[in-house]
Amino acid sequence: MNILDLADELQLRPRKASSTKGGEYKSACPKCKDGFDRFCIWPNSGTHGQYWCRICKCHGDAIQFCRDFLGLNYKDACKKLNVPLKQSNSPAIVYPFKQKNFLPKDTHTISEQWKICANTFVNTCQKNLLNNPFALEFLHSRGFCLDSIQRFRFGWNGGNIFDNRTNWGLPVEYRENGKVKLHWLPKGVVIPTFDGKEIAKLKVRRTDWHAEDKLPKYVEISGGLQRPSIYGDINKPIVIVEAEIDAILIQQFASDICCSLALGGVSKRPDKHTHEILKRHL
Ligand SMILES: [Zn+2]
Repeated sequence: MNILDLADELQLRPRKASSTKGGEYKSACPKCKDGFDRFCIWPNSGTHGQYWCRICKCHGDAIQFCRDFLGLNYKDACKKLNVPLKQSNSPAIVYPFKQKNFLPKDTHTISEQWKICANTFVNTCQKNLLNNPFALEFLHSRGFCLDSIQRFRFGWNGGNIFDNRTNWGLPVEYRENGKVKLHWLPKGVVIPTFDGKEIAKLKVRRTDWHAEDKLPKYVEISGGLQRPSIYGDINKPIVIVEAEIDAILIQQFASDICCSLALGGVSKRPDKHTHEILKRHL
């Protein structure tokens, strides 16, 4: 039994959001008794997993979870998790985002082959989008006008595509079951990020996504630049948001007064390049 089983017991129904720390799941917070993705669960962190609410900041390991939310005392929590009492006398609580010195990392460059494939994909999806009223309506309902849809080169991928990773210049990888990992291009609205004129990153907002979905709503296509997305003039004040789609929308309405930066996930940190840009604004 690990922390995900405990979360199921509380009927939190956590959904996988990313592969951070060996798998990150999100749900409503059992302490706030609110939200749907504020409560982060890392089943592969520590011995039996860890949790943290980004709103009320409650956090701990699986034993603490039992004590806080299942009404168990320490001894019963250890029994439930099959943890020998001696070993778990002082369960280590690791605060997930505590870092005394932030050292931004360099970003690996992306392969030319990936860029070629990504460009072809973006061009095809862009054409698809302009002929797809459903996808256009999705973006209009989020506030985008046709000019922005074309300028930021949004696209529409009409079906799930499973390509070979090697076609995209990526190394062969294997799943836990030994099968070859495929390059997944999910069905949905395609949101490209450019570094100057060059394609740098691809995200897809899955239109098939639903509240019970175990797979994330936004999928970052493997092989892209691991860097926050920046839109607009970096000399202007920078507005930092989580999602690319929000950063682009800010540009539609306020590109004359600000630049916008999407981290691409609340747990993601700026790389060296982005950190340097941000430092100039201090
Ligand atoms: Zn909370």
